[in-house]
Amino acid sequence: MTQDLRSYLELVKSKMAEEFVAISKEVDPAYEITAIAAKVEREVKRRPILLFKKVKGSRFPVLTNLHAGRSRLALAMNVAPEAMQAGYLKAMEKPLKPKIVAKGPVQEVVFKESRINLYDLPQIIHHEGDAGPYLTAAISFARSPDGDIWNCAYNRLMIQGRDRTSIHLTLAKHLWEFYCAAEAKKEPLPVAFAIGVHPAIALGALAIGSIDEDERGVMGALLGEPLELVRCETSDLLVPAHAEMVIEAEILPDERTAEGPFGEFTGYSLGERQREVVKVRAITHRKEPLFQDINVGHLDHMLLSTVPIEANLYRAVRAMVPSVKAVRVPAPFTCYIAIEQRITGQAKNAMLAALGGDLYMKRVVVVDHDVDIFNDRAVNWAMATRCQPDRDIAIITNARGSDLDPSTQEDGYTAKWGVDATAKPSLAAYVPRHRVPAAVWKRIDLKNFLS
Ligand code: MN
Repeated sequence: MTQDLRSYLELVKSKMAEEFVAISKEVDPAYEITAIAAKVEREVKRRPILLFKKVKGSRFPVLTNLHAGRSRLALAMNVAPEAMQAGYLKAMEKPLKPKIVAKGPVQEVVFKESRINLYDLPQIIHHEGDAGPYLTAAISFARSPDGDIWNCAYNRLMIQGRDRTSIHLTLAKHLWEFYCAAEAKKEPLPVAFAIGVHPAIALGALAIGSIDEDERGVMGALLGEPLELVRCETSDLLVPAHAEMVIEAEILPDERTAEGPFGEFTGYSLGERQREVVKVRAITHRKEPLFQDINVGHLDHMLLSTVPIEANLYRAVRAMVPSVKAVRVPAPFTCYIAIEQRITGQAKNAMLAALGGDLYMKRVVVVDHDVDIFNDRAVNWAMATRCQPDRDIAIITNARGSDLDPSTQEDGYTAKWGVDATAKPSLAAYVPRHRVPAAVWKRIDLKNFLS
């Protein structure tokens, strides 16, 4: 099969061998895995996949830094690095229906009831101040309690007992919506978490869209074949047949526990909150599974999430402004948009589409198509020379944003702002930019002057 993590690792080893490093020396799961990945990122200037073969206190090897290279993500999507956004948009527009299979390697080994023990897993503590060991690469697979809508998402899980974790459900997102419906009926919400998957599955899980858009279809389209699913041992949920490991569970109604602090992608370690509780019903895995970790707030995480966010924003803006040229997410909650404005007002429409098209978006800067949004200095130049703050900044108050934004008054209740840094007032007439006359530019050959 080509849809498991192992075959992807073999592909990386054959095509870009220098991007895979196995470490035999034993590491402590408390801080050392994060420290090594962060030091590699900073000091070695390359970001190989890291496989820690021996992790203190656990029989499972740990794979991390899987997504920390654009060329590796492109390889997983089977496209050139510059074609990733187009490839992702195509997968969103033409999802492939998943395929249910009778058996899958993810159920080669099954632990139920008293044999469930989350403390057998690597107890990875990522950053100073984290409340405990976290599972950061768990992708939830769930179904709405009142229909046939499926959802996948990344949710951080903190190990809180042999068969118990807390879960961070992003407030106002799809799994939270499912959970609210289940809790209203005083019922648990069945959920299964896949750990250790092909990066195309990881990218698909992060697809942003309407609640009835099925992330599993995007996963299949990115893989180039339908995602194969098997039925869980303890529920009728469906999980990737070729995952390394699955945790079958339910989120309990009317129960909360202390969750956090945890160092997040914002660069902050946000404080303790009362959050939902997960009861584990089974742990299944392949023979000799790889346990996957994601280095939250580092490239492993940032590159992975940026591709789906930018593709969705491009789609949302293009629905309003067909002449959009590019969209970039350079920082948390921030997006730059370049448009070829054909008629007055389109910059603001682009701004509103982006702010409305992604729960997390808080600051949007719109520039003309002659500004390179992949160059921060060029965006700053446009903000400085094409924008009057009293005229061109729009602030929207009391909206819903990210519950991980430490600047909000209460979890995620936020203002949002847009900056129109397009040239004004007349679209036809840009203020001319200085240049040397074209004929002189062409005539001058530096050889004649500097030799
Ligand atoms: Mn969804």
